[in-house]
Amino acid sequence: MNYSSVIAIDGPSGSGKSTIARMVAKKLNLLYIDTGAMFRSLAYILKSRGFEIDEPSMSQVDAIKKELASLDFKYGQSEEELVVIDGENLTQTIREHEVSKLASQVSKIQVVRDYLKEAQRTIAGKNHCVMEGRDIGTVIFPNSYCKIFLTASAQVRAQRRFEQLREKGDNQTTFETVLEDLKKRDDSDINRPTAPLKQADDAVGLDTSDMDINQVIDEIVKISQSKQNLL
Ligand code: C5P
Repeated sequence: MNYSSVIAIDGPSGSGKSTIARMVAKKLNLLYIDTGAMFRSLAYILKSRGFEIDEPSMSQVDAIKKELASLDFKYGQSEEELVVIDGENLTQTIREHEVSKLASQVSKIQVVRDYLKEAQRTIAGKNHCVMEGRDIGTVIFPNSYCKIFLTASAQVRAQRRFEQLREKGDNQTTFETVLEDLKKRDDSDINRPTAPLKQADDAVGLDTSDMDINQVIDEIVKISQSKQNLL
């Protein structure tokens, strides 16, 4: 597996990672991988199948491990079928606001992270890709040649999430709820013992609060090209 061929884009919720990573991948003709979608889908499936995912007991963790081993997990068949588990297309469901909280809970479970690490490495072993998440540059591909860490203020990030929810027809969730949940998720992602959200020492940090999206994309393309020249 050539892990170094991955462009790793990490950062907190609402930093613009998904949109930016997708567009960078398009520009460079690489495969785009959204690892948050993977955590979201496992969170939804495990919760809906009755598993305790918020600080599970040891026996629950064992049961989760067995369940994961038996899943038919398909990622990236198409944009309409981004994640399909046991034949169920979860692509729309995982974008609901409630699933964000579940994903944050499930992301603390080591067996879940191990399962997805394998899945993510398998995909990257077969494709040149832009992979976005929280731990891509630190844990999944520490040898990646190009690492970017995106940030933005909590207010700006919450506003972006809020607008996305409105666009999707969610008229219930208030801005205050989005901001409060985002801060809770940040806190949980940063402080969890397993694969916490943090900038890799060799990552380039970009604060997108006041940047136009095309500026960020051009900057990342430029960085990736200059790093590639050094390989
Ligand atoms: O990126 P997104 O908001 O879809 O991710 C949902 C949740 O999944 C995050 O809050 C985080 O807890 C978890 N996650 C993670 N590691 C990743 C990607 C996502 O822990 N690589």
